Amino acid sequence: MNDEERLRYKFFLGTACREQEVMYATWADINWGKKEYRIRQKEDVDFKPKSHEARITPLPTSLVNDLRDRHKNPPHERWIFINSDDSPETHFLDKLKRIALGAGVNCGHCRTTRTVQRTVAGNRYEKQQIEVSCKTHPVCERIKLHRFRKTKATQWHEAGIPVRTIQHWLGHKSLETTMLYLGITDSAKLRDKIDEAHGD
Ligand SMILES: [Zn+2]
Repeated sequence: MNDEERLRYKFFLGTACREQEVMYATWADINWGKKEYRIRQKEDVDFKPKSHEARITPLPTSLVNDLRDRHKNPPHERWIFINSDDSPETHFLDKLKRIALGAGVNCGHCRTTRTVQRTVAGNRYEKQQIEVSCKTHPVCERIKLHRFRKTKATQWHEAGIPVRTIQHWLGHKSLETTMLYLGITDSAKLRDKIDEAHGD
């Protein structure tokens, strides 16, 4: 990843935000002093989080520092991440799939169809369906933006952050949804607690 890409996906991981919540992130949503990001409605772009989704979520200090650097000479005065025509970035997933392909981390087993234009005769074109594999094309289904969200939820949980707090930070309506995000902690990481519980 280049620096721009790294910051984008660091933001996904650091905030555990949904794709649209990153897409419509603005500089005004960052509270630099408290190191927080406020997810709020933006009517002009039709971004309307539900009431439990509008919230304030914490930013790790290293991410705040990276954002502060970017803010000194921002690519856009309102949006934090933009595409080549100065509007909010809408291709985070496609771009991540390309990075994954370049890094050789695609699973190699996904197959899907793509529509391509083929020249038939002279300057006549025809649309054609071709089968592509994630071995050679950026189509791996294992690459998902949502994984950043699940990973961060698990990291917060393992760091001892209360589940109700994680639920709020993720913008989940029900605690059950949050529970589904959290993996089972490896017993090696809990060894001290296991022994302490037994009085060892
Ligand atoms: Zn794949």
